[in-house]
Amino acid sequence: MSDHVLVINAGSSSLKYSVVDARTGEAAAAGLVERIGEGEGRHVHRGPAGETETTRSILTHEDALRAAIDTFDKHGPSLADLDLRAVGHRVVHGGSRFSASAPIDDALLAEVTGLVPLAPLHNPANLEGIRVARRLFPDLPQVAVFDTAFHQTLPPHAYTYAVPLTWLEDHGVRRYGFHGTSHAFVSHETARLLGRDPAETNVIVLHLGNGCSASAVLGGRSVETSMGLTPLEGLVMGTRSGDVDPAIPAYLARELGMSVDEIDRALNSASGLKGLAGENDFRELSRLRARGDEHASLAFDVYCHRIRKYVGAYYAVLGTVHAVVFTAGVGEHSAEVRAASLAGLERLGIAIDSNRNNAAFSGAHRISTDAGEVAVFVVPTNEEWQIARETLGVVRHGSGA
Ligand code: AMP
Repeated sequence: MSDHVLVINAGSSSLKYSVVDARTGEAAAAGLVERIGEGEGRHVHRGPAGETETTRSILTHEDALRAAIDTFDKHGPSLADLDLRAVGHRVVHGGSRFSASAPIDDALLAEVTGLVPLAPLHNPANLEGIRVARRLFPDLPQVAVFDTAFHQTLPPHAYTYAVPLTWLEDHGVRRYGFHGTSHAFVSHETARLLGRDPAETNVIVLHLGNGCSASAVLGGRSVETSMGLTPLEGLVMGTRSGDVDPAIPAYLARELGMSVDEIDRALNSASGLKGLAGENDFRELSRLRARGDEHASLAFDVYCHRIRKYVGAYYAVLGTVHAVVFTAGVGEHSAEVRAASLAGLERLGIAIDSNRNNAAFSGAHRISTDAGEVAVFVVPTNEEWQIARETLGVVRHGSGA
């Protein structure tokens, strides 16, 4: 029997899919349908015959998934031959209700719908992806894998904001954390690389992509993470501010007459690297910085300084740290970010070997010196594999892996 899982990540105007062997992590095919509902949709599919790109009218998520199924038929691999076991869906917000992946039924859909106020951009799109996949694959079990679930092990003193307690009790205002599948995958992979049991391994994970988050993982369980009620808090990101003084929105409203929506948009879409240097793509930012652009240089410094602050804070949270690990687009590829963020931390047992750091291109690498007490790794994240594994775990055992 195959272990192939169709992994679906539905966004508001996009649908990302892949067929992953849950045992090996190998992707038999993957694709992305973009610009759903915007007239001409763009569809890129990667299979055994290479990459195909098509543009056609894609009005709904159902059109998008049908386009993907057509492409499997036309360009392979054949879905019948892949013998799919299940469909695994990325769902952004599981609130306090979901601490593990869960089988999808009508009751789960109602609960995820109830969480829409906490993730108004993401959960409706995730729900639409689930509805469509249930219609088009009615015979396959479907599983929800939540971005928040891994962080449900945070203790109350870490997830509680010091605000009126009724905000938490009546409205769910607390830290949830995101990128959970990535933090779970990377922290477990790090334990494997160290030859240790995850239950006896303490790791600081730095997920640095378009969105950025840090987590402190104690014995395999997340005990602190930088994103909060929403994915806005914490590290500096491509277009998101991360931490700011919570009084700033009120100040802007009073002084500039900005509306709540304007401030929300500015902090989410016009801040971070983009706000400081006009550029949110890290590769481009690095080029600007290398050419002596002062704003790009400042953005880089603010970005790395924030990472360093979190490493120090999470070191204190964990007490003993076995590894610091970098992952996602920037974490996996920018040796300069890794070097700048951890420079001068030898007293904490953290020392990067610059040759190893500069040579870490693809795959997992240890980039710390042999003498450094704390191992520093680059570990490529693989959220699709984690979703496939958890999905199969639910199908086999009825609960999250
Ligand atoms: P992700 O969200 O994990 O896909 O990461 C996207 C971010 O990684 C973008 O800011 C990219 O510019 C950045 N990135 C991708 N490749 C590189 C690279 N080779 N060097 C620096 N940044 C990169």
